[in-house]
Amino acid sequence: MAKAKLNQPITLAGVTVPPGERTIIDLEVAQLYTHSPLGTPIEVVNGKYAGPVLLVSAAIHGDELNGVEAVRQLLNQIKPERLKGVLIAVPVVNVFGFVHKSRYLPDRRDLNRCFPGSERGSIASRLAYQFLNQVVKHCTHIIDLHTGALHRSNLPQIRANLANPATDEMVRAFAAPIIIDAELRDGSLRAVAESLDIPTITYEGGEALRFDSLAIGAAVNGILGVMRELGMIRKTRRKGLINPVIARSTSWVRANENGIVRSQVQLGDSVTKGQILAYVSAPLGLNEGTIEAPKSGVVIGQLTLPLVNEGDAVFNLAYFEEEDEHVVEQVGHLIDEVNEGLGDEALRIGIPSRPYDEM
Ligand SMILES: [Zn+2]
Repeated sequence: MAKAKLNQPITLAGVTVPPGERTIIDLEVAQLYTHSPLGTPIEVVNGKYAGPVLLVSAAIHGDELNGVEAVRQLLNQIKPERLKGVLIAVPVVNVFGFVHKSRYLPDRRDLNRCFPGSERGSIASRLAYQFLNQVVKHCTHIIDLHTGALHRSNLPQIRANLANPATDEMVRAFAAPIIIDAELRDGSLRAVAESLDIPTITYEGGEALRFDSLAIGAAVNGILGVMRELGMIRKTRRKGLINPVIARSTSWVRANENGIVRSQVQLGDSVTKGQILAYVSAPLGLNEGTIEAPKSGVVIGQLTLPLVNEGDAVFNLAYFEEEDEHVVEQVGHLIDEVNEGLGDEALRIGIPSRPYDEM
């Protein structure tokens, strides 16, 4: 077998990391009106051997925490002396939002709509600009970690542009049970990176401001799967064998009255057309109504707050060419795979190690 090629130093934001070493870099973004600088912490693990440059980013939306924990667990598992290529880990891109436990930057700017940004713009625009030019442009592949919004939880799923073969390869290797072939949204990291020909996948799992063991475990396993596929770490046979299924379409089912919601289904359930997904009633129990499935599909997103106004989105359903039972089976494989890996690590972050037994 040919000997692996040795790696080169990498320079990011003016800091050079030699091969076989790891370094923490503070990317300076802007000055706050308190006179303190606003920066983004980055850990660069430069492998001893040459290979791809993978960026794993989380908390572009400052209140989305599962990815932050996934990056921490990932960093514990990667050794620069064994790594081929470079892992650039950015657990908290939007530090301002993270501190405020908010999705946004000042002026309620959404960072994931601000790319490519500008050098002299608002803080969000400057952060987008610096992150793009000092970090993203050095990368050959990107995995961007997200969660559902506040009070909305997502089943682990990948959004990506499957028309790009390199992106498709990453999606398959990540092996989240559900894939959504999503159009690129203007101003997002994924859109700007794909326009630079950097294959990028977006992972969604769990909800904002909460830890979800399944979402965190699926993210770590998925990233390691991509790193194996790209030849960055040693290939081991992955058990579980999740065979991701591409959704034909998705839609939100909305409440048709105001009230208190009693959900009858959970993430990963398959539902049939007309099935009652939830009961909605007034506090005194009068005027009970129902929310029903408009078509047969699988629940991939759900409101976790049991209070709704008429028109609020309550369930996100995905529809497939394949039998829904096949999709449910893949979700089962994911749960087994994550539960198997949830040992001491899960206990240390304070989450039950087998929370999804019922599913
Ligand atoms: Zn997000």
